[in-house]
Amino acid sequence: MYDVIIIGAGPAGLTAAIYCGRSKLRTKIIERSQPGGQINLTDVIENFPGVASANSKELIDTMVKQTKDLSDVEIDDFKMVRNIKYNGDIIEVSGKSVIDENDFSHSCKALIIATGAQPRKLGLKGEDGFIGKGVSYCAVCDGPLFKDKDIVLIGGGDTALEEALYLTKFARKVQLVHRRDKLRGSGILQERIKNNPKIELVLNSVATEILGKDVVEKIRIRDVKTNKEGEINCSGVFIFVGFAANTQFVESFLDFDSEKYIITNENMATGKKGIFACGDCRKRSFRQIVTACGEGAQAAHSAEQYLTEVNKRYD
Ligand code: NAP
Repeated sequence: MYDVIIIGAGPAGLTAAIYCGRSKLRTKIIERSQPGGQINLTDVIENFPGVASANSKELIDTMVKQTKDLSDVEIDDFKMVRNIKYNGDIIEVSGKSVIDENDFSHSCKALIIATGAQPRKLGLKGEDGFIGKGVSYCAVCDGPLFKDKDIVLIGGGDTALEEALYLTKFARKVQLVHRRDKLRGSGILQERIKNNPKIELVLNSVATEILGKDVVEKIRIRDVKTNKEGEINCSGVFIFVGFAANTQFVESFLDFDSEKYIITNENMATGKKGIFACGDCRKRSFRQIVTACGEGAQAAHSAEQYLTEVNKRYD
């Protein structure tokens, strides 16, 4: 029996684990792949206070080491949670190893859900068929494959702008297709985009189809103001149009907003006693590493307070 199980080892889950471990709560983190969450998809982090510019891998490695150094915390990676049974005071978390398909099942008194979100697909004609053949949702993973090639990138938020800048390390040209006449991403990134000679903005435009024989060869776009259609020749299409919450496995018993983000109060408590949620799987307006970490700390603190109450009942 664990005091706390945390599902997800991104910044929110790891921070929650650090706080639980320092409170001497017996804690297990269950992660479906490797720790780090969405930080794994990016290269450099420049807005984490106290760390002017961090290599993503180094930042994750440090967070994981900080977590593993705590004697009361265990990390189980490559385990996929499929089911949660909630019987008032006891919560049972079960699933399968993604490596050998072996079943696992653990019980806890408090549960913290920190499963984050994953890149959204656009649903374009050709998108699914060309995944791994030119269509990508991860610049760090696939950028090096496009050395001296032309790339189209779709999206105008912080992720799109950061990844467009990163891709210029490899690509000959990056054409950034955005559906409005203004980018959404932060001013500092917009300035860098404007000053980068390898990036060309294609504004007021939406992609309609990805075309090619065996691999991506071009993308069809439509100007939303004139309705005029056109094509851009390219070897890669990188899509950064936001994220979708990883919350399917709790859909049946927690409260969600219309986009399937978990609703909590300001202490990260869901409507079910003993279950907390933090980070990008939770309904909130500002999704940053630093806000995910803050929520992780709050979720751990709320879980600890809850456990104090529960334990009093059994004393
Ligand atoms: P986002 O801010 O939601 O931006 C998504 C972008 O995709 C927007 O430009 C949006 O266009 C566009 N888009 C959405 N659906 C589309 C569609 N069907 N067709 C064409 N374009 C579409 O997502 P994000 O950039 O992934 O960022 C997610 C969160 O993480 C944000 O809160 C962001 O600030 C944060 N983040 C922060 C940093 C950082 O601080 N360095 C880095 C990465 C992410 P519109 O603009 O027209 O809506």
